[in-house]
Amino acid sequence: MKVCKFGGTSVASADQIKKVAQIVKADPARKIIVVSAPGKRFNSDEKVTDLLIQLAEKALNEEDIEQELMGVVERYEQIAAGLGLAKGIISIIKSDLQERLTNNKSDANLFMDCLKASGEDNNAKLIAAYFTHIGMDANYMCPKDAGLLVNERPERVRALPEGDDRLVQLRDKSGIIVFPGFFGYTKDGTLRTFNRGGSDITGSLLAAATEAELYENFTDVDSVFAANPNIVDSPVGIDKMTYREMRELSYAGFSVFHDEALMPAFRRSVPVCIKNTNNPQAPGTLIVNERNYFAQPVIGIAADSGFSTLFVDKYLMNQEIGFGRKLLQILEEEEIPFEHTPSGIDNLSVIIRSKFLNADKEARIIHRVKEELNVDHVHMHSNYSMIVLVGEGMRHSTGLAARAASAISRTGASIQMINQGSSEVSLVFGVHKADENKILKELYAEFFLKSAVLSN
Ligand code: ASP
Repeated sequence: MKVCKFGGTSVASADQIKKVAQIVKADPARKIIVVSAPGKRFNSDEKVTDLLIQLAEKALNEEDIEQELMGVVERYEQIAAGLGLAKGIISIIKSDLQERLTNNKSDANLFMDCLKASGEDNNAKLIAAYFTHIGMDANYMCPKDAGLLVNERPERVRALPEGDDRLVQLRDKSGIIVFPGFFGYTKDGTLRTFNRGGSDITGSLLAAATEAELYENFTDVDSVFAANPNIVDSPVGIDKMTYREMRELSYAGFSVFHDEALMPAFRRSVPVCIKNTNNPQAPGTLIVNERNYFAQPVIGIAADSGFSTLFVDKYLMNQEIGFGRKLLQILEEEEIPFEHTPSGIDNLSVIIRSKFLNADKEARIIHRVKEELNVDHVHMHSNYSMIVLVGEGMRHSTGLAARAASAISRTGASIQMINQGSSEVSLVFGVHKADENKILKELYAEFFLKSAVLSN
């Protein structure tokens, strides 16, 4: 039994949904079908989730919502018409949205979640209706009825393992199950959505709970590439990689698979395959527990910008018990997660995603570090990028860090920070944002094109 998830572009239009039906029909093992909300049909298009966010914002501000509401309904209308479905499904979708809009607005986040989730929920109903229309034995499944349990607010939303006992029963249901991605329910029945792109998480949770033989994640590329194809010319596709490698790559900007989605599949060792709805024959990228890393120690290179660094310097810092805890506690109190903490004997940098900072928070942090920790210097710099070299084989090879550093030096850029985690699956270089692309290209040439470069 396989769980398949189809992302936004795979379900963005009637033609795309027809491809989905063909893919599902082609393999009787494809039983649980998780769907996203309709995504972009072309570059400048808007995702239905974004339209829903705009709709919810207007409703929260008590503004006129007619235009936004029609914008969402029209997207479904076009899809339904293209699929030859009767108008009834659109009335269902319209009244569903109208009902959500009457929800209590006292908790704006919950109101927003409920509207956002309608994108996947209504798409799942529509796709199930289409599958039935063309003679497939398929049913829509509500995550509440299935038992997809999530934790209460205010904590970050995550699935509760208690839900698994009920989710496993999906295996025994007859026919194909069309399941909306992106949200679950708390024990008291409140709807909460995962982070953006969270339908990947739903797919992984269901694959793990039902102990599927495979979790197929259908998107719009033939495979995961070894580097960002918008920066590096025609990067190679990755055939097979480990969960840890995918986790490291998606952390640092590989948006093809949500970084929170791996854990459930990993815990139950369900293999994940990233495939292309527009070219389902392509084998895709398989994500498993182990791979033969001798042939290719480095599997991919990721780069992500938008980092800031908090630098603190204090003579004899190494001897001061509790210094690191106190520093991180200041960040905790400002609700800022940290990414890396490279350190020297008397100094420490904390790398933070800049999106968690604002001018007030920065000023408060600097002030508190100075006052409470009595440091010699403290400053915050932004506009950093992290370039991450990822590969299980790095643990077993020597000289990779030297090759990477000399490739970077060939670009003339300077390295601001190096961090090799103890897992040795990744090597992180902090660099100035302005140097990011040239470094990525040079590292790609070093680790993936070396023979071609040498022969030129
Ligand atoms: N529709 C949601 C988003 O755009 C979730 C998803 O597609 O996975 O973020």
